[in-house]
Amino acid sequence: MAFKIPIRQLFIDGEWRAPIKGNRFPVINPATEETIGEIPSATVEDVEVAVKAARTAFTRNRGKYWARTSGAFRAKYLRAIAAKVTERKSELAELEVLDCGKPLDEAAWDMDDVAGCFEYYAGLAEALDSKQRAPVSLPMEAFKSHVLKEPIGVVGLITPWNYPLLMATWKVAPALAAGCTAILKPSELSSVTCLELASICKEVGLPPGVLNVITGLGREAGAPLAAHPDVDKVAFTGSTATGRSVMTAAAQVIKPVSLELGGKSPIIVFEDVDIDKAVEWTMFGCFWTNGQICSATSRLLVQESIAKEFIEKLVNWTKNIKICDPLEKDCRLGPVVSEGQYKKIFGLISAAKDEGATVLCGGKHPEHLKKGYYIEPTVLSVNPSMRIWKEEVFGPVLCFTTFKTEDEAIDLANDTEYGLGGAVLSKDADLCQRVTESLQAGIIWVNCSQPCFCQAPWGGNKRSGFGRELGEWGLENYMIVKQVTEYVSNDPWGWYPSPSRL
Ligand code: NAD
Repeated sequence: MAFKIPIRQLFIDGEWRAPIKGNRFPVINPATEETIGEIPSATVEDVEVAVKAARTAFTRNRGKYWARTSGAFRAKYLRAIAAKVTERKSELAELEVLDCGKPLDEAAWDMDDVAGCFEYYAGLAEALDSKQRAPVSLPMEAFKSHVLKEPIGVVGLITPWNYPLLMATWKVAPALAAGCTAILKPSELSSVTCLELASICKEVGLPPGVLNVITGLGREAGAPLAAHPDVDKVAFTGSTATGRSVMTAAAQVIKPVSLELGGKSPIIVFEDVDIDKAVEWTMFGCFWTNGQICSATSRLLVQESIAKEFIEKLVNWTKNIKICDPLEKDCRLGPVVSEGQYKKIFGLISAAKDEGATVLCGGKHPEHLKKGYYIEPTVLSVNPSMRIWKEEVFGPVLCFTTFKTEDEAIDLANDTEYGLGGAVLSKDADLCQRVTESLQAGIIWVNCSQPCFCQAPWGGNKRSGFGRELGEWGLENYMIVKQVTEYVSNDPWGWYPSPSRL
């Protein structure tokens, strides 16, 4: 019998509520193609109720309720959530696997990161208590000025499907730490663990309305949330195309947005590397999470002198990656998230072949798996003018080309509309520094690819978006400064020009 996920409703104002129109949609396990449950589908009417609940929680009794609590008070809830995530780690990891297809080990790792991120922002919330009032030095003694750091207000958080609970946490934890109240709208392709986060918030007694979770389709629930005039800020992670719609909607009511969008990041391998280690990082950088990582280093540039040896090893090792049901022990590659993604990725591979790309390995559905949206890890030898070199695939597809000189590598790496990540592999520290400084991207890895820590800033340039998540930058995303200037002189003419002398 197919595994069934918990039956949940929308989480609004601290209560489970059926969607007003009563719509629900199926949850499909991408490894088996079976329907394993249903998720409530919110519409504009539910968004309205959720925004009201978040607003009330923010400004209850005309004061600023959640916003006026101390950082230490909010930190207690964040730590309680972290503890519950740790307690329920294996169950949450299993749900994540069933919902989005990532290997179980990786999902378990995500849950550790989720708990770690809530803990980290609990610490920053506590530290806020001593930082909320910062003096500003002025050139006139008659005045004193300081800035108050305040939570920005009610925030709309819209997230993608590749790291369902982790991407939500990167927004929820700093938003709540800052004193904002939030409406989280996870991806319709993987909402299950976000509803479990709601159940954890209920369990730890998070005050009603502080976090609301509405599941639903992008156009029915995400779009009205982004456009809502009483949502003070939208933090979005997803594709560049949807990011553009979110920004357009936010522009109509002049609200700030932060955008974490797509990528097509390069990995540059110089001839002096240890080839085995470089091959390992290259594979990790592209095939981790079934290749569905925004920062995947999916454009491989190898210096011509070592290209033959490097690619032979890379292809041999890639052919040996264990592809199976992601719940199986030692699975290294599971299915992609949905039938839609599966078809889109094969469409891109097929178009690349039509343009003359050579398939060095993969490029097809694995023969031993009859059901599920599996795609063999694929290495393509391409020409940088091809579409597949430029477009985000968001699947286990690595495109490879060669370069001769450092300058050529940098030019090829930067010749993209995206600017999320990049990796440089070489034993020469000076060369690594030169390349790091030349790459147009928000995150650079040196002699590695993909490690991510909640203390360090995350985000992209160019069409990969703007704003930074994680670290102190992530908290700043949810805060606003207010200038307070006071007249402190006893002399009524202590400043010039005085209004009465005008
Ligand atoms: P997507 O843009 O299709 O959807 C993202 C979210 O937006 C979903 O919750 C969806 O329901 C919602 N949405 C859809 N249409 C909307 C609209 N008109 N208004 C408001 N919300 C709407 O992205 P996806 O397919 O879920 O995720 C994959 C993309 O996310 C890739 O491009 C990937 O690179 C990107 N991503 C970026 C980062 C990062 O940190 N930069 C991290 C993870 C994923």
